[in-house]
Amino acid sequence: MADDLSLHAHLIGRQGSRADLNTPVLVLDVDALDRNIAAMAATAARHGVALRPHAKTHKSVDIARRQIAAGAVGVCCAKIGEAEALAGGGIAGILITSPVAAPRAIERLAKLAAHADGLIAVVDHPDVAARIDAALAAEDARLDVLIDIDPGIARTGVASPEAAVALARTIAALPRLALRGVQFYCGSQQHIADHAERAAAIAERTRYLESVIAALAGAGFASGIVSGSGTGTHRIDMDLGVFTEYQAGSYVFMDKQYLDCDLTGDGACPFEVALGVDARVVSANHERLVTIDAGFKALSTDGGVAVVRRGAPESAQFAFMGDEHAALVAPGIGAMLAPGDPVTLTVPHCDPTVNLYDHYHVVSGDTLVAIWPVSARGRAR
Ligand code: PLP
Ligand code: MN
Repeated sequence: MADDLSLHAHLIGRQGSRADLNTPVLVLDVDALDRNIAAMAATAARHGVALRPHAKTHKSVDIARRQIAAGAVGVCCAKIGEAEALAGGGIAGILITSPVAAPRAIERLAKLAAHADGLIAVVDHPDVAARIDAALAAEDARLDVLIDIDPGIARTGVASPEAAVALARTIAALPRLALRGVQFYCGSQQHIADHAERAAAIAERTRYLESVIAALAGAGFASGIVSGSGTGTHRIDMDLGVFTEYQAGSYVFMDKQYLDCDLTGDGACPFEVALGVDARVVSANHERLVTIDAGFKALSTDGGVAVVRRGAPESAQFAFMGDEHAALVAPGIGAMLAPGDPVTLTVPHCDPTVNLYDHYHVVSGDTLVAIWPVSARGRAR
């Protein structure tokens, strides 16, 4: 039996159809993707800010290339492994947004700094800055860094303006590190559904960020890069005008979580759903319920449930039924759908769903036009 890839290569050779794909399968609408990339690039350009989109969302060399071709100054990566994978694919200007602290990871960071073009890391502790500096010496390399500032969620980042100034002094005294600015990512505010409530929360956090920037300036550290923001707050942040660089990630795909947020304040979503999981009915023996072949292994489970986009009533309720299956529940659905029928789902949360797949099956309309690897799949360290 032909394996999946040779089967797909065969399909592409004769202009494969989406309907022929094995399921569950991660499907990417390339036209919607390109429109999302262009929309965010235009918004950033209009506000005169740089875009370094987060690649934790897509983990893809192909998509990073498209973002850079549309004007992005590089991409962000969450972990050193993700950065290695994308740098290995020729992507320059990578900012690693999580502190790199494990000894082996620091060694790899120094090695990557020696050959990757425009690499930037974040630091939030003087001891780690010193360890990175020592590892860079072993590689005869240098590295640009940002001070990661905790926006009040106690995940990563220095916890006060005084700690930011102390870390800036440490970095300034280390010969191989160059302080380029700060990072401030308000993860807890991104998905506040109501726009006014999200804007108020971000305005309050931005005043704190400004106080840290002022403390650094007062100690002689002029502000350079101010990096942060996400899909949920990018418009609000652009109006506030403090960030010089934007890290938004999910906008390339969109997901159910972000469809539930009013991103602009007028209810008009600037982005389209470009990503989906295609599944199939595998059992239809009940009046109100059919079973599909997409369960915990096909969709991330942290962000609620999937919603039907095509192939079944959009009002059908999705319910996980274990590792391999889910139910779609609606009056009469058992008579509407038969085993083998395709269903397209909008994913609950894009980033962890993508990490479940080896490939994107890229479509234009209903034609399969390419298969792209999820280049950094599983590169969580
Ligand atoms: N920056 C950081 C540090 C993140 O952790 C994330 C996502 O979790 C992003 C940017 C991208 O945000 P979003 O996917 O909401 O656009
Ligand atoms: Mn996310």
